[in-house]
Amino acid sequence: MGFDLTKLLRPHILTLSPYTSARDEYTGREGVFLDANENPHGSITDENFSRYPDPYQKELKSELGKIKNIPADQIFLGNGSDEAIDLLFRAFCNPGKDNVILLPPTYGMYGVSAAINEVEIRNVSLTEDFQLRPKEILEAADEHTKILFICSPNNPSGNCMKEADMLFLLENFKGLVVIDEAYVDFMTMPSFITKLTEYKNLLVIQTFSKAWGLASLRLGMAFGSTELIGVLNKIKPPYNISGLTQSTVLEAIGRQEKVKKMVNQILNDREKLAESLERIPEIEKVYPSDANFLLVKIDRADEIYQGLIDRKIILRNRSRVTLCENCLRITVGTEDENRQFLTELKNWLKSN
Ligand SMILES: *Cc1c(COP(=O)(O)O)cnc(C)c1O
Repeated sequence: MGFDLTKLLRPHILTLSPYTSARDEYTGREGVFLDANENPHGSITDENFSRYPDPYQKELKSELGKIKNIPADQIFLGNGSDEAIDLLFRAFCNPGKDNVILLPPTYGMYGVSAAINEVEIRNVSLTEDFQLRPKEILEAADEHTKILFICSPNNPSGNCMKEADMLFLLENFKGLVVIDEAYVDFMTMPSFITKLTEYKNLLVIQTFSKAWGLASLRLGMAFGSTELIGVLNKIKPPYNISGLTQSTVLEAIGRQEKVKKMVNQILNDREKLAESLERIPEIEKVYPSDANFLLVKIDRADEIYQGLIDRKIILRNRSRVTLCENCLRITVGTEDENRQFLTELKNWLKSN
């Protein structure tokens, strides 16, 4: 397949030389470090944070590579997936000239990043059952189309896109295809990471924010060709992942069994929650989910959303989003939280 990354990138990115720190030149751990203007006495906190962290997160990537079955030089780590998304715009899209294709209803950050970077958005909505429209997507693209963002499992609908449609787009779309797998741990279909050797135009995004329960640490992952990951590393802020995040996640990677246990609990609770919601007559539809949330269609969604906020139950109101009229997105909570939510929802429906 004739995918040429250098032709898709903004020309100045190819020739740009990145910031180099003194630590790039000397990588040993031992020594008298008088190169980075750090505080030699340590930190004012009990734990010591006085030294700049590894800019390439080598140790973390080496362990991550083992569990994801991918070489470390095909991994980019960002301050949340959001950083990877933003860097893609900066690497590929000339402001005011290039465009990207988004597939609403979808994750909001793609559009926000496009707007910040002054990049045109071409929306091709999903079908009524939230699947891809591959032919329409190809038709929407022109020579200035740089990136296609596919979210699978999709936020806010919760379903996976059909594998055949994604493969068709990987074969035929001329730009970069980003598949956002933030909810990969909850889905039944295999990750597209395994397709990276086949498709040089593929970038897979994942995150520690959902199944791993580490949203506050801000650690997102992107997996792609060595060449593409090299570009992201070249343009990222040098110390984008804090030392605390690196050491904490390094430790967390050894606890995969616990992640699996939590995921199983959430999947069980999601099924119970879906069944309970389906028994509520006012609910028109509970959409099938491959993620840790459920999208439901219900009359007067705006009023219910507000009514539940007054009862301190906070949902995500998606009722003004394409194809999601009267839809609320509900994260699967603990058994107790789900019970409280159902009680308050039923109470509200009875009294309104
Ligand atoms: C939650 C989510 C993310 C995660 O973003 P982080 O910045 O890594 O916390 C990415 N993509 C989608 C679709 C999400 O729903």
